[in-house]
Amino acid sequence: MEKIISLCKRRGFIFPSSEIYGGFAGFWDYGHYGNELLDNIKKLWWRQFVSNQEDIYGIRASIIMNPRVWEASGHVAGFADPLLTGEKFNVMFRTSVGVGEEAKVSYLRPETAQGIFANFKNVIDSYHPNLPFGIAQIGKAFRNEISPRDFIFRSREFEQMELEYFVRAGDWEKYFESWREMMKSFAKEVGIEKVHELEVPTEDRAHYSKRTIDFQFDYPFGKGELWGLAYRTDFDLRNHSASSNVDLEYFDEESGERFIPHVIEPSLGVDRTLLAVLVSAYTEDELGGEKRVYLKLNKNIAPVRAAVFPLLKNKPELVTKAREVYQMLKKEIPSIEFDDNGNIGKRYRRQDEIGTPSCITIDFQTLEDDTITVRDRDSGEQERVKISELSNFLKF
Ligand code: ATP
Repeated sequence: MEKIISLCKRRGFIFPSSEIYGGFAGFWDYGHYGNELLDNIKKLWWRQFVSNQEDIYGIRASIIMNPRVWEASGHVAGFADPLLTGEKFNVMFRTSVGVGEEAKVSYLRPETAQGIFANFKNVIDSYHPNLPFGIAQIGKAFRNEISPRDFIFRSREFEQMELEYFVRAGDWEKYFESWREMMKSFAKEVGIEKVHELEVPTEDRAHYSKRTIDFQFDYPFGKGELWGLAYRTDFDLRNHSASSNVDLEYFDEESGERFIPHVIEPSLGVDRTLLAVLVSAYTEDELGGEKRVYLKLNKNIAPVRAAVFPLLKNKPELVTKAREVYQMLKKEIPSIEFDDNGNIGKRYRRQDEIGTPSCITIDFQTLEDDTITVRDRDSGEQERVKISELSNFLKF
């Protein structure tokens, strides 16, 4: 774990928040490469869970909501307020909305799911979907965790990718299985190895859940939860309907029935996904008789798809040609980087640690025949490729 944390700092993936003031427990900042990686993970999830589906609607709800949402969801009652009882810790971050006598207590959301339930009626009224259908969102969640630990594994501010998939009560098992398969395939897509599924026993399940599977991962500090898949029944919609006095029933035009749908929830933490991706990708080996460290990231999520180098920094004709190749590629593949720092060995080491799948070098032969070398991150092997074929070569 120490090695991964230090690589993240050294190469600009993740920094402690407010570091110049000694940090702040449970909060982290993402640097350029960390931010790119995070974005790529989110884009991939969105594509797989939302865009590629016919019946999923993506939303972006506000982080601070009417506090009645948290009363109906059970969060306010579930965690007693320490200021009032002095006993339990309140897991939600309290804030006050408005000023002076108008000020009202509210909370930063501890999960994105409730923003989805609160918009169920809007989705029905605007898009008239037929069951089954889903509502998805990616966004920040905040928990006043008692003991933030293990780098970004448990923090107080993190991001979630959540989907609520609404079904008829009798159909829940079928859709539970299909989302379970989808989560396994997402693990493969992002390059997370060794995911274990744990059937959560009744006594350990959240109050609203009739079945939960925890997807667990072997972190360097031990086995821990990566994602969760829960059958939340109709608990949330039923409570919101009762508490808001707004009818949240679904009307089935074919059968004429009215009922509150049940829901299957795949819930994935973005930061934990990123941690599992880093742990899976971190590799130490020996190349050309030298020890090296590299991130074996999948091409579809690597923060830099390829780096372009002039063989020598002090040969203007090589630098000009390298800049030309870089500009040409960047138009098609934005995550291309130009690098002329230090000698070529240093550049390879840096790009290996960032997880860049390909390094492209412009050398003297390039000036004669318009070919460049492409070095493969994992094998260290180089092959000559025509510049005109390069963008196809790099596509994935
Ligand atoms: P844990 O048991 O580890 O506290 P949880 O069961 O409370 O997690 P959920 O409420 O199911 O977690 O949240 C869904 C997902 O959000 C988790 O699977 C995880 O990926 C992520 N997550 C939850 N809490 C945190 C946290 N404090 N820091 C980072 N990610 C988190």
